[in-house]
Amino acid sequence: MQDFIQKIIIQHLPHFSSENVEAAVLRLDLLHPVVSGNKWFKLQYYLADALADGSHTIATFGGAYSNHIAATAFAARQIGLKSIGYIRGEMPAGFMPILSTAQEYGMELRFVDRSRYRDKETIMEEESQPGWYWIMEGGYGKKGAEGAATILEVVDTCVYTHICCAVGTGTMMAGLIKRALPGQQVTGISVLKNNFVLEKEVRALLNDTEAGKPFSLLHDYHFGGYAKHPPLLIEYMKEIWFNHAVPTDIVYTARLFFAVQDLINNKDHFPKGSRLLLIHSGGLQGNHSLPLGTLPF
Ligand SMILES: *Cc1c(COP(=O)(O)O)cnc(C)c1O
Repeated sequence: MQDFIQKIIIQHLPHFSSENVEAAVLRLDLLHPVVSGNKWFKLQYYLADALADGSHTIATFGGAYSNHIAATAFAARQIGLKSIGYIRGEMPAGFMPILSTAQEYGMELRFVDRSRYRDKETIMEEESQPGWYWIMEGGYGKKGAEGAATILEVVDTCVYTHICCAVGTGTMMAGLIKRALPGQQVTGISVLKNNFVLEKEVRALLNDTEAGKPFSLLHDYHFGGYAKHPPLLIEYMKEIWFNHAVPTDIVYTARLFFAVQDLINNKDHFPKGSRLLLIHSGGLQGNHSLPLGTLPF
């Protein structure tokens, strides 16, 4: 993976900068087309743990559009482990790009109806075999956060005052808080609607010192809910592409960019002199669910 990590850069965002604030983006999306973004960072310590345990199979959970599923399939194969994905819902009739990718990387898919899927403890109890290593949905957990913390070590990020990221399970955000320096604040944009338990879930991955660091979660940029993509958001994604040549995804990073721009331009959210680092956490495969030609990238 080291070769891939060298591709990651920080890119200045001139259109985001005002007289008060400067912004740049950490392009984790350049890491790899499938394991792009934060997923590989979150997985790395789980995988090391699985190898150390002598496990031969990684088992995990995800929805049919889950970037985590494809990333796990790829990463498991890279280190010579089998993988099994428990997928929420019935087997879809049509082509599902993420699931096909996961299968190409050798993942065995097991479809679980939605009510059973909610009770993951039972699935783990009933299905687990010797030599299996379980990773929670989205890579949520302390090892995931430890892995995500290394995102801030890829390139020098110490000049930034605010680290801004999109938040699903909160694992990446917890990692960023862990590694944030004194004077750095982490701002998370929740992509789910009214997911107010998130703060507790982030805190559960932090020790007391880390939980005392400055961070905030914003809940106003969900655009109607998970993966909803009204025309306003699509138009905004095109604008980001034309202004900065940065591709974004409908689920996570488009909301992040939109939110940060709104906070700068309309909310005067960041104090004068702030230097923002947006984390482009990847996830561009999510755009495959749009009709072809919707986006110029
Ligand atoms: C999975 C994902 C996230 C969310 O990460 P969490 O650690 O679950 O909060 C953010 N951005 C992208 C592109 C993702 O694929």
